Amino acid sequence: MIILKTSKELELMRRAGAISHGALMAGVEAVAPGRTTMDVNRAVHDYITAHDAIPSFLGYGGFPAAACVSINEVVIHGIPSKTRKIQEGDIVSIDVGAIYKGFHGDNAYTVAAGATSRENEQLMEVTQECLRRGIAQAVPGGRLGDIGAAVQQYAEQFGYGVVRDYVGHGVGQSLHEDPEVPNYGTAGHGRRLAAGMTIAIEPMINMKGSAIKTMPDGWTVVTVSGLPAAHFEQTVAITEGGPVILTRPL
Ligand code: MG
Repeated sequence: MIILKTSKELELMRRAGAISHGALMAGVEAVAPGRTTMDVNRAVHDYITAHDAIPSFLGYGGFPAAACVSINEVVIHGIPSKTRKIQEGDIVSIDVGAIYKGFHGDNAYTVAAGATSRENEQLMEVTQECLRRGIAQAVPGGRLGDIGAAVQQYAEQFGYGVVRDYVGHGVGQSLHEDPEVPNYGTAGHGRRLAAGMTIAIEPMINMKGSAIKTMPDGWTVVTVSGLPAAHFEQTVAITEGGPVILTRPL
């Protein structure tokens, strides 16, 4: 069931989104060669708790941290570790959610540690552009397939693989609500979009092939190719005035 939000609820989600965004940027700033993925998590966790919010991911399904920190071939759900050092040239995907007054924000960003390859730079740029193109389709009267098609068509022009096993989702008083928001699809197909829907759009794009697998820890999702992936996400409200990004500064 899709839960439409009132303008009052959207105001709270804007606040939850702003905290989620700030926490994500704190994580991005903590990325540097020699730092650990736990250092990134700590920056995120501290930001959220300092803003009277609760980390959405901590304890979610048993996840042990506030942030997912995923390096190179890790697509999503990387578990922060005190021993995993970030190397020069790594690309680091950070996924962060925060609960404020009962509402969640959810966002993700991929950043390079120091200088990285041109291939990695392009992968990150294209994935971020996929997100922008997906968001542009989040308008009343549109269809879910419009979002997926916009993401997929752009990514595949570059020969990249769109992850299909994980998708975007509704966001609200639960971190994951209906509907599912795939990063692939056919324009004009799927559920109709309506004002009041709040969705996380989150392209996960692999440099090669869409196949992924989960590591024995039960969380870490990696590309089967072993090549890098990028992940960008924002929580967006669909309004009569068009898409409104909630995960941004107030
Ligand atoms: Mg999400």
